[in-house]
Amino acid sequence: MSFIFKVLKDIVLVNNSALKEIFKAVNLISQENEETLLEEHLPLNTEKIKLQEDLFIAKQKKYISDLNNKFLDNINNDILNNITENSSQKDIDFIINDRYKKAIKSADNISSDEILIATGVLAEERQRTLDVEIYQWQTMRDERVRLSHKNLQGKYCTWNNPDLYADTLEEARNGEWKTRTAEMEMLHPGRAYGCRCFALPII
Ligand SMILES: [Zn+2]
Repeated sequence: MSFIFKVLKDIVLVNNSALKEIFKAVNLISQENEETLLEEHLPLNTEKIKLQEDLFIAKQKKYISDLNNKFLDNINNDILNNITENSSQKDIDFIINDRYKKAIKSADNISSDEILIATGVLAEERQRTLDVEIYQWQTMRDERVRLSHKNLQGKYCTWNNPDLYADTLEEARNGEWKTRTAEMEMLHPGRAYGCRCFALPII
């Protein structure tokens, strides 16, 4: 049995170079997006972006290892709880397959979310490089947008404090910030689970 576990463990492992490639792709898209929004030529890599890459890789490796451990624990528990001496190899295969499918689904969910988060983080990094402090919250304006994000659509926000917002650009420029209400997201765009919102830089 431990041999099967080892094989399964290897399947779920993702190496550093795969994570580097993922970050590279996200970074390239982010650079193109921000160049369009900021109407400026921006470098693909800076010291700060390299730092974000290291953080991204470390974070994903932790997720992968946690997912891996959970996957193996779950199989272990399922086998302990459901397998008796009358069980067949087929029963064991069923448990492993079922848990494998669930682990892949979790990995899919985490990875698409992590890409959105990395996009949001890189947008902030690039906008701050150009001393942009104020951004306008933009949602995807479709039915999937949650109410707490819809409530921020078009509002002005500051990279310096995600708890604040202003209704007009004039108020934002004058530093007349209001505290976000309980019906508003308390994070920057792209940081909350599944958030597809983005920060429109105000130059
Ligand atoms: Zn959102």
